[in-house]
Amino acid sequence: MARIGVLALQGDYLEHYQVLKGLGIEARYVKTPSDLRNIDALIIPGGESTTIGKLMAIKGMVDAVREFVRSGSPVMGTCAGAIVMAKKVFDRVLGETNQPTLELMDINVIRNIFGRQKNSFVARVYIDEIGDVVVAFIRAPGIAEAWNGARITGYIEHPQIGKIGVAAKQGNLIALTFHPEITGDDKVYRYFIGLVKR
Ligand code: GLN
Repeated sequence: MARIGVLALQGDYLEHYQVLKGLGIEARYVKTPSDLRNIDALIIPGGESTTIGKLMAIKGMVDAVREFVRSGSPVMGTCAGAIVMAKKVFDRVLGETNQPTLELMDINVIRNIFGRQKNSFVARVYIDEIGDVVVAFIRAPGIAEAWNGARITGYIEHPQIGKIGVAAKQGNLIALTFHPEITGDDKVYRYFIGLVKR
């Protein structure tokens, strides 16, 4: 059975863990490089991307996760996790952030593109390879660009922002700018579990 790790440094890792458990998956919290040895795939949750990035650097997780990816293991970043996956990060108001990330995916992510917490919303979005899925956007980023091996696999048409990417894929790496863990729709998880080689 696939063993899925959830990076548990900051953010809503508990909710991801609970969804995985609910699906009968062996879920594990990941806090240190050695925790990566016992899992087949990793989820980086939503939260605060600057904090997650800094904590990953302090705990030696940056090189460890990059090595995990080089060995072919799938990694999925959701919301702040998607920011942590990106090579380029901008803030809607402040411009380029130069915050520490894993720099794993060739995508340009714009933080807080939909506005503040009170502008949060639930929407049905279509993601290639996953299908229609109901998810939550909470101070969510958008994916403005993808290059090299990365491609944008889902968009939202937003009344104020217009068309903006909400999902991207690059090999075994997935960036989703929303929260899939709180709406009760488990399609994203079934898809991600399916990426693990048996
Ligand atoms: N706005 C947060 C950030 O930029 C992400 C919010 C979230 O993960 N729900 O880090």
